[in-house]
Amino acid sequence: MRLVLLGPPGAGKGTQAALLTEKLGVPHISTGDLFRANIGEGTPLGLEAKGYIDAGKLVPTDVTARMVESRLDEADAAEGFLLDGFPRTVEQAEILTELLAKKGLALDGVVNFEVSEDVVVERMLARGRADDNEETIRTRLQVYRNETAPLIDHYGDAIITVAAEGEVEEINARVMEALGK
Ligand code: ADP
Repeated sequence: MRLVLLGPPGAGKGTQAALLTEKLGVPHISTGDLFRANIGEGTPLGLEAKGYIDAGKLVPTDVTARMVESRLDEADAAEGFLLDGFPRTVEQAEILTELLAKKGLALDGVVNFEVSEDVVVERMLARGRADDNEETIRTRLQVYRNETAPLIDHYGDAIITVAAEGEVEEINARVMEALGK
C-alpha cells in the first residue's frame, strides 16, 4: 500500500506509523526522522535543514522533495510505503503525484488523523523534543493551518479520516478498519 499520513504536528502519526509498518509490511518514511538523522550525522542536508526545523518553519521544498525522491527510490519502498510528513503543502503534493506518475504509480489513500489543537499542544509539550517549545509549537500549528490543512481538500475522495484521540491501540484499530484490513 502506498499511503500518506496526514495530520497536525503531534497528531501521533509517528506512533501509529510504527504499528502500521509492521502490520502492513511497508516502510515508514518520515521526513522529520530523515532530517533529524541528517542533523545527527552533521551532513550538509542536516546543516541546511536545522535552522528551519528549530524555528518551526518548513524546510524549502526543493531540498525536502529531493530527499523524499531518493528515499522512495530505495528497494524497500518499491511495493509500498507510509509517507509521514510529506507532503506538507499543495506544491509538495503535486510533486509527489509527479514522482509517482513517472513510475506509473499512484497513492492508494491519504489517512487524515483528526485531533484537536488542545490535545496536540499537550502531546508535544509532553514529548519534549528539541523543537517542541511553546513558541515553535505555535509556529508549526500556524504552518499546519495555512499550508498543510488545504491538503484535505486537495486529496478529496482519497482522504480516509481517523479520529486520533484516545488510546494508541484503539486508534490503530480504527486505522486498520478504515483501510479495510
Ligand atoms: P511533527 O510530526 O511534530 O510535525 P516532524 O518530525 O514531522 O514533526 O517534522 C519536524 C520538522 O521537520 C518540521 O517542523 C519542519 O521544519 C521539517 N519538515 C518535515 N517535513 C517537512 C516537509 N515535507 N517540508 C518541509 N519541512 C519539513
